[in-house]
Amino acid sequence: MQVRMITVGMFQSNCFIASCDETGEAIIIDAGDDGDSILKFVRDQKLRVTMIVNTHAHIDHVSALAEVASALSVPVVMHKNEMPIYENLAQHAMMFGLATPASVSIDRFVADGDVITFGRLSGHVIETPGHSPGGISLAFKDLTPPRIFVGDVLFHGSIGRTDLPGANHQQMVATLENVIMKLPEDMVVYAGHGPETTIGIEKLTNPFLVDLTP
Ligand SMILES: [Zn+2]
Ligand SMILES: [Zn+2]
Repeated sequence: MQVRMITVGMFQSNCFIASCDETGEAIIIDAGDDGDSILKFVRDQKLRVTMIVNTHAHIDHVSALAEVASALSVPVVMHKNEMPIYENLAQHAMMFGLATPASVSIDRFVADGDVITFGRLSGHVIETPGHSPGGISLAFKDLTPPRIFVGDVLFHGSIGRTDLPGANHQQMVATLENVIMKLPEDMVVYAGHGPETTIGIEKLTNPFLVDLTP
C-alpha cells in the first residue's frame, strides 16, 4: 500500500490517498480542502479512486468532499452517527467565519467491523467516537508494518479536542483505552493533523496516553 499525505486548507488537515501497488486502485480519506491538489495528485499518478472515506465530518475534513466526489464520480462513506455533524456544516462554517462547503449525499454507512476493499487491500472500520459522535478509524492490520488512519482521535503528542458540539470526553477516554491502547506498537498512525507516528511512540511520549493502562 502506498500512502500519500496532502496537507490542506487553513486548518492544515491531512488528506490521505491510499493505493494498491498492484492494481492502482485507491481510496481517498478525508477530502478536507484544496480539491484541486487532491484531484491533480490522483490524475498525475493515474490512480483509480473507488471511494472517499470520511473519518468524521468536521468542516476541515469535508470541505472538498462534494467537489472531489463529483469530479471522480465515486461513492462517499461515513458512519451514520456522524450525520448530525455533516448536516450542521453551515453552523460549523459560521463558527469559523467560513463559507458553507457544498454538500453531497452519503452513499454508504459503515460501522465497527465493516471492511473497505480496494485492489488487493482490505481495511477494517473501527468505531472511535469521542472527538465526534461517528468518528471512525480505518486499520490495515495485515500489512508490514500495520497501519491505521485515525482522523482526529490521536495526533503525534496530542489528542483531538472534545469541546466541539457532538464531542464527548468520556467517550474519547474509552476510545483511547479500549481501542488505541490495544493496537500493536509498530502500527503506523496517520493522523488528521500533523506528522505520522506509531502507537509505540505515542504510548511512550503522548501525555494523554502515558497514564492509561494498556
Ligand atoms: Zn475533527
Ligand atoms: Zn481536524
